[in-house]
Amino acid sequence: MTKYLQFTQQDLQLAGQLVRDGQLVAFPTETVYGLGANALDEQAVRSTYVAKGRPSDNPLIVHVWNKQQIYQVASHVSADAEKIIDNLMPGSITIVLPKSSIIPSVVTAGFSTVAIRMPKSVEARLFLQHCNVPVTAPSANTSSRPSPTTWKRVQEDMDGKISAVLCGEDCEVGIESTVLDLTHEQPLVLRPGVVSPEQIQEVLQKPVSVVTDPTAKVNSPGVRYKHYAPKVPMALNTDGNVQKICNFFDSLVEQGFNPVLLVAEPSKFGGRTAVCIGKTDQEVAHNLFENLRKLEQSHNYIVASFCSTTSFGTSILNRLVRSASNNVF
Ligand code: AMP
Ligand code: MG
Repeated sequence: MTKYLQFTQQDLQLAGQLVRDGQLVAFPTETVYGLGANALDEQAVRSTYVAKGRPSDNPLIVHVWNKQQIYQVASHVSADAEKIIDNLMPGSITIVLPKSSIIPSVVTAGFSTVAIRMPKSVEARLFLQHCNVPVTAPSANTSSRPSPTTWKRVQEDMDGKISAVLCGEDCEVGIESTVLDLTHEQPLVLRPGVVSPEQIQEVLQKPVSVVTDPTAKVNSPGVRYKHYAPKVPMALNTDGNVQKICNFFDSLVEQGFNPVLLVAEPSKFGGRTAVCIGKTDQEVAHNLFENLRKLEQSHNYIVASFCSTTSFGTSILNRLVRSASNNVF
């Protein structure tokens, strides 16, 4: 039976104890809900892959709540890493550094590097503080599904499979952290997120490259897998052409589908069933996965439209393209 815990002193202590005992506890962060396990306990980490149905060659991010823990889990903290830690952490950024020997290889899927994040949400930090060990935490969803941004969505995927869920607030950001590889001379963004390459560049005072092709053979297996997908087929429009979107929608209706549009301005679509994707990038990201999980229950085809030229918009687009399994028009 999965326990549903609150942010009381007693429940926080229990959550920390469960993690130290090798159990799985889901908890909120500012990005998405995470599925926490003791990063130093090989068995506990193994059970994370089982609960999620996650391929074992996709490494996990180790969550810490203070700088000292970073020195425990990384074998070397470079000058660049120090700058990122001091300027952008706690925050929605993950850094990849050489791993220390206390981190079992199951955490890093055999890599000699480890991904480290220090979340900024007060609730996440309280939880990590009570665990008092580094905590592996992938998103708390079944592998390939949209990440959970409310505890109710964690319950949907994980009830009966994990020991407890810390029921906190809905996640503010709504998409996962930026993953930054700092193990080479040139910093490399492996996964885009709310922390932009420009922000990183500003802190490091050197050029930062970005992996743009998700199928590229890079050192981050997670970006290759099917991800963020609703249970129903989905298509993504990226130019905002209303006529084109309406034609696509109508052809789906003709084929017998019950589609729904996920667009910035539903009123522009001549009475077709439409839901607002959000007015700002922040709003779109905050509601994105929740929208997909809601709409898959009432419709059998989702047609989303999103265009943005900002860096954050590009990160959102990265998730949407993959939700739609590259079905872009
Ligand atoms: P998720 O758990 O869904 O947030 O995914 C974690 C992301 O971090 C995936 O894209 C992983 O491939 C990536 N990641 C974790 N550890 C490493 C590592 N040691 N090197 C490179 N990427 C990593
Ligand atoms: Mg995930």
